[in-house]
Amino acid sequence: MKTARIADIIESSNETLPEFTARLMSRITKGGRDECWPWTGEQRRGYGRITCFCSGKRRMLSAHRAAAWLSGIAVDGLLVMHSCDNPSCCNPKHLSAGTDADNARDRDSRGRNRQPSGEMSGKSVLCNKDIVVVWHAYRGGVRQADIARSLGVDPGTIGAIVHGKTWRRVSEGMGVVFSDG
Ligand SMILES: [Zn+2]
Repeated sequence: MKTARIADIIESSNETLPEFTARLMSRITKGGRDECWPWTGEQRRGYGRITCFCSGKRRMLSAHRAAAWLSGIAVDGLLVMHSCDNPSCCNPKHLSAGTDADNARDRDSRGRNRQPSGEMSGKSVLCNKDIVVVWHAYRGGVRQADIARSLGVDPGTIGAIVHGKTWRRVSEGMGVVFSDG
């Protein structure tokens, strides 16, 4: 698997990082924070591609991979996966980095039951949509243990969410106000 370091490519290209970022972003149709952000530029097998020129040589970068990297996800040596199954999507919230094994597991779990893992961490079992479900249930008076069981996670995972220890930005984005902040 060839995964040239994005930083190296941009460094040796004829563009500065802000120029590259602007060019990349100009080809992404940004939607809502949880929506897919499709790539409008060149594509191959559904995946967006962006060309860089490094001392006269063309180097292709995957658009979603570059988008993930720009958002701070560590992608070097890893695959960048979509939690949304939409290859052209460049919303960093739908992207995570993982190994081939993670990718296979992800596909597997998706086929069998619910939303895949992913979101920014690449390790998390829950996704943004689950957090919406958690808050809806919690506010409706469902016990944390029952929410946990329905999502197939540990009760402590739900406790951490409702106390703002994890997924805080997503929760706050939904209008949740934590007493300690
Ligand atoms: Zn998406």
